Amino acid sequence: MFRFLIKDAVKHIGEKVKVSGWVNTRRVHGKILFIDLRDRSGFLQVVFVPSNKEAYESAQNLRPEWVVEIVGQIVKRPEQMINPKIETGEVELSVESLNIISEAKTLPFSIETDGRELNEEIRMKYRYLDLRRERLKNNLIARHKVSKFVRDFLTNEGFIEIETPTLTKSTPEGSRDFVVPSRLNPGKFYALPQSPQQYKQLLMVAGFEKYFQLARCLRDEDPRGDRQTEHTQIDIEMSFIEREDFMELYERLLISLVKTLFPEKKIQQIPFPKISYKESIEKYNSDKPDIRRDKNDKNLLAFCWIIDFPFFEKDEENKWTFTHNPFSAPKPEFMQDLMDKKNIDQILTSQYDIILNGWEIGGGSIRNNTPKSIGAVFEIMGYKKEEIQEKFGHILEAYKFGSPSHGGIGSGIDRITALLLGEPNIREVIAFPKTGDGRDLMMRSPSEIEKKQLKELNIQIKPAKPVKKTLPAGRQVTKKVKKKV
Ligand code: ASP
Repeated sequence: MFRFLIKDAVKHIGEKVKVSGWVNTRRVHGKILFIDLRDRSGFLQVVFVPSNKEAYESAQNLRPEWVVEIVGQIVKRPEQMINPKIETGEVELSVESLNIISEAKTLPFSIETDGRELNEEIRMKYRYLDLRRERLKNNLIARHKVSKFVRDFLTNEGFIEIETPTLTKSTPEGSRDFVVPSRLNPGKFYALPQSPQQYKQLLMVAGFEKYFQLARCLRDEDPRGDRQTEHTQIDIEMSFIEREDFMELYERLLISLVKTLFPEKKIQQIPFPKISYKESIEKYNSDKPDIRRDKNDKNLLAFCWIIDFPFFEKDEENKWTFTHNPFSAPKPEFMQDLMDKKNIDQILTSQYDIILNGWEIGGGSIRNNTPKSIGAVFEIMGYKKEEIQEKFGHILEAYKFGSPSHGGIGSGIDRITALLLGEPNIREVIAFPKTGDGRDLMMRSPSEIEKKQLKELNIQIKPAKPVKKTLPAGRQVTKKVKKKV
């Protein structure tokens, strides 16, 4: 006999069905024993009566969170017993037989609440139990819908999803890399991608024209706000476009995402306002302004674009560094200055950031697509010719073989989903998040590895020194603009 999902029970009044799930609650009224059975689709009241001796006796043992399989008949509840609060409130299951699949220890916390009252450490340690609560289940379902929407939208626009490698090369981009030792190449390391930036640009050289990926980005950052060491971004790249074309496309995606999946939300202004970096700092003292007219309205979404950022700024060693992305092109009117390496502080980048209610939810740019213009950026940053060749030779060479103009965006799906759901922290929309300092309390990672593994990798561990929490040298993030590639 096939198992029915609980939510479908109402459609089968009078029929014999099999349902499976967890005992949510158990109560006794006189001689009758009730349980609320829970599966991923909902709750169902199940009734055990003494006349069905075998099932009734075995049900005496049932405790919350035991897993059971029950065969019985769906019957209408008497009028006064109808529970309008649950989808199956008009019916109940009259038990024929009960099969106990597994017992359960008492849970370390209640899963009946929204969980916000609990200490996060305990929620993270038992995340698989925390995920049993309605709020988190619904968050992950909503996240799935957002991802699916993005995939469908971009597919309809002619984009194709292409996976790029997880083991890649360390390059001096925005944040610190996570590195992975190579056993087969002793002393050499892969880096985990901070983003698929270079690969997606190379896919444009390859001629795909419209790429996207829901890409995992890994950045070894110090604990900051709701940052995670890994996050997922809607990563897009597209050929033969200008800045405005790309912004229009991404804006259309966001509007239609909200209208389709979150119809209760109201977008403050369409088209989204475009604010220059200068104006944003002057008017809002921030490059992520919260421009909501009514900050008490939980359904108000105020999107805006921030554009015209300076391309370069001085780092702590007084050297030029990029503000956002070294692969960006300057705005066309500044291309000559870039090539001549003059008026460096005046050069504006084609970068655009997308902001929602004061949160940056993405950023991208039109890229430099000639070896000369890419090289000029690294020369301004003080890289020697050989160093540029060593670190970026592959991309400089690629651009010698006929490269289209192109640009794109990376936009955090965790943050978008959290904001649309009104969740204060992206951890609430990630199945297995890490703590602020990068630990997985459930798996207990990071962890030591076997001596044998270290030996194979040719690695010797020195006694640990306290970790100094800074960004890589020469790549200090300034207060104004932060880098991200
Ligand atoms: N790589 C950038 C980021 O991760 C996005 C982009 O410029 O496409 O934020």
